[in-house]
Amino acid sequence: MLIVMKPGATASEIDAVINIIETVGFRAHSMPGATRTAIGITGNEGPIDGRRFENLAGVAEVIRVTKPYKLITLDLRPDRTIVRLDDATIGDSKLSIIAGPCAIESRDQAFAIATIVQQSGARFFRGCVWKPRTSPYTFQGMGDKGWEILSAVRDEFDLKIVTEAVEESHIDVIENLGDVIQIGARNMQNFPLLKRAGRSRLPVLLKRGMAATLEEWLLAAEYIMAEGNYNVILCERGVRTFAQHTRNTLDLASVPAIRRISHLPVMVDPSHGTGTAYMVTPLARAGVAAGADGLMIEVHNRPELALSDSAQALTPSQYLELVDEVQAIHQVMAPTGNDGLNNRRNMTPGKPSLLEQSRHSNRRESLS
Ligand code: PEP
Ligand code: MN
Repeated sequence: MLIVMKPGATASEIDAVINIIETVGFRAHSMPGATRTAIGITGNEGPIDGRRFENLAGVAEVIRVTKPYKLITLDLRPDRTIVRLDDATIGDSKLSIIAGPCAIESRDQAFAIATIVQQSGARFFRGCVWKPRTSPYTFQGMGDKGWEILSAVRDEFDLKIVTEAVEESHIDVIENLGDVIQIGARNMQNFPLLKRAGRSRLPVLLKRGMAATLEEWLLAAEYIMAEGNYNVILCERGVRTFAQHTRNTLDLASVPAIRRISHLPVMVDPSHGTGTAYMVTPLARAGVAAGADGLMIEVHNRPELALSDSAQALTPSQYLELVDEVQAIHQVMAPTGNDGLNNRRNMTPGKPSLLEQSRHSNRRESLS
């Protein structure tokens, strides 16, 4: 159930609705928007009789939710969610870039890469200290020792730290020392971990499971939001298919598909999405062109020596070139349009777009 308040509803009218929701034993999720506040209800296992809310002061509409989602939807929040960490943002008109090595390996490695990440203008540094590896015999990450390095990167380079939590206790550490909690593809349906992330005050980057449908992925986001954390960033990182020319098949159609359903920001990870360095830049360009809010890119000062995901790591110069290219593509993309067409800026300032030209000539034809 979703309660849409009138545009002019007062704070005390909103509070009164929340109070009734909580008194009858449910949880209220109030989402203030540019024009109105909507309140989502969770905690009910069966349908709720919405009539008790209809006549309350300030209520415009009571909507029965027939979709499996309650909180990720544009019905609840028509404005896009913008995740803000001081001046670093994801989901606004800027292209956000999270870049860094797959794993933290040493201070020299992390500092060399952070220098490049900072130079590129990216505001987020990634680097795992706990690695969920397919084989128990491969590098598992530096563990807690890696945090000395991550903390130093955070201080010296003024970058926000994004790192993966593999188990619930890791979230306690990230809350103390980091900025964004990453939930990896292998843990997308680790429900206790999702719930713990939902009780955090930090934003959560939720990667798509490697065999997850869009619905399963969005319901994983619902798990986080249902606990009260609304700062969820979705990250498309490819799914497993029959293709053998890539590590995963990067499903870029998920970007417009999510846009149609959800207010949450969507990022694209062409590094894990392809598994091969030479494909990362082409797919990064395509991800931005598809309307992603940002990119996650693995970069290493010596890719050939990387202890994990070496084949997909870009060199510093490849990475800087990628950033130049995707920023140029982002410049010609719509800043907020849902379909990527309506608000497109002209590529040549002052020159009318093809759409404008055709509208103009249609007008002339209908006048003559
Ligand atoms: C990663 O970001 O390093 C990672 C392990 O990604 P994924 O969970 O998408 O495989
Ligand atoms: Mn990796």
